[in-house]
Amino acid sequence: MNVRPAPSSFPRVDPEIAAGLDEFVALRRDLHRHPELAFQEKRTSELVARRLADWGYAVTTGVAGTGVVGTLRRGRNGRALAIRADMDALPIREATGLAYASEAQGVMHACGHDGHTTILLAAAKRLADSGQFEGALHLVFQPAEEIGAGAKAMLKEGLFERFEADAIFGLHNWPGVEEGRFGFVSGPAMAAVDRAVVRVRGRGGHGAAPQETVDPVVAAAHVVTALQTVVSRNVDPLDAGVVTVASIHGGEASNVIPEWVDLKLTTRSFRPDVRRLLQKRVPALIRAQAESFDAEAEVDYQLGFPPVVNRPAETHFAASVARDAFGPEAVIEGFRARSASEDFAYFLEKKPGCFLFIGAGERPTLHSPAYDFNDALIGPAATYWVRLAESFLL
Ligand SMILES: [Zn+2]
Ligand SMILES: [Zn+2]
Repeated sequence: MNVRPAPSSFPRVDPEIAAGLDEFVALRRDLHRHPELAFQEKRTSELVARRLADWGYAVTTGVAGTGVVGTLRRGRNGRALAIRADMDALPIREATGLAYASEAQGVMHACGHDGHTTILLAAAKRLADSGQFEGALHLVFQPAEEIGAGAKAMLKEGLFERFEADAIFGLHNWPGVEEGRFGFVSGPAMAAVDRAVVRVRGRGGHGAAPQETVDPVVAAAHVVTALQTVVSRNVDPLDAGVVTVASIHGGEASNVIPEWVDLKLTTRSFRPDVRRLLQKRVPALIRAQAESFDAEAEVDYQLGFPPVVNRPAETHFAASVARDAFGPEAVIEGFRARSASEDFAYFLEKKPGCFLFIGAGERPTLHSPAYDFNDALIGPAATYWVRLAESFLL
């Protein structure tokens, strides 16, 4: 199996994990070859459940449809830990040309959830074989992260009532960050994502006689421009926000002023107060701007998922596990929050915990048709979960 050697900063991949690595690299590539969309992770879910059962886990399937929880209990100590991996793929046509490229038309593991699932399975096996811990370990294999629905659905089905946990941890690989190094952000670590669908309504007519129309194209153009002032003029300069108009559609012919123009936009924020400000200011500005041209705007502002907010104590703990396992150089100092979003945010609204990052090295970005998970991360990341579980469940 052709796996690039782990970087020199990782001399201490757990020997048992290192010995079984070929099997897990093959498993990751098998998952990559058979990607499944949100809530359709049937094959993946069955594969996960079967392996966990083989290794002695008490396995609960069908949590939010395709979700799986594997539980391992040792001793009588009451501590309980949850670790989460996501399983779903994206509606993207793969363009990697890899031997193990997707066999599902238009579906692709372009976010590395095949890798996250494999990492947690590799840790699961090692913890079942020889894990030194006392308490309850719940390994949560979540469906439907990409549509922001899986975590919420698992919570709705009583995840934390059925599998009591003192804290929950999760990770994401990150291209563009040095391979195998860990990033921890205390506090807001990933953005809240909301969206708005807008129709700017005017009165159509002949392109040669604009005075007889209300031109929604000109009004929409001003709306787009004015929206750029929300972050620059309304948000505190020391806070962050994003307003992106990503879609604009209206009209057909060059000589016909249309009745309406449709806009779609997304907003991102890291703090609840900034999120509320965007929720209030964006629709108000769109309506007022349209009105100034005698046009009207219908704004449907939809709240997506909240920011990922890591608790300081758990983040400190998670970073210390990486330092202890791999040395201080394994942790990136001053790692910055990411403006992407993660539905792990819902778990962190219910339980203390930390969502952390592991660098995937220089390679195509997440959600790119050229992306492929970096198999060199399986060893270090699985070792990390083992150390974290053993340190948490003392
Ligand atoms: Zn993704
Ligand atoms: Zn992802």
